Amino acid sequence: MNYKTVLTVCPYCGCGCGMYLPVLDGQLGQPIPDKTHPLSEGRLCIKGWAASEHVVSPDRLTQPLVRTGDDLKQATWDEALDLVASRLMTLRDRHGPDSLAFLCSAKCTNEENYLLQKFARTTVGTNNVDHCARL
Ligand code: SF4
Repeated sequence: MNYKTVLTVCPYCGCGCGMYLPVLDGQLGQPIPDKTHPLSEGRLCIKGWAASEHVVSPDRLTQPLVRTGDDLKQATWDEALDLVASRLMTLRDRHGPDSLAFLCSAKCTNEENYLLQKFARTTVGTNNVDHCARL
């Protein structure tokens, strides 16, 4: 049996509560609050307690799905990204950059969220960027 805990911060909001993530034989478990964290002092809200659920969910999508009519068909990442890029550019060219909006996610890293807003502002040309943690 291989067991370890990894000290980290909850990814869901700017409070950054402290938690340990247990890993048993490569399987991620439920967060354990960090009692020594100066802000959260061993507490987590319901979002923090559920912070690892989406990672281990059997319903988690691990491959892109492309809609054709009413059907969703598995695609490669290259196929899905080419499709998204071409549709985004078509919409931007037809209706202008502010016809598009980008929603970042607390389930991504800060770096991924930074890249998305940078893409929106510099490549697409819109400031229509929001984040679920602001709600
Ligand atoms: S546990 Fe709740 S309050 Fe703390 S960082 Fe996560 S979402 Fe924010």
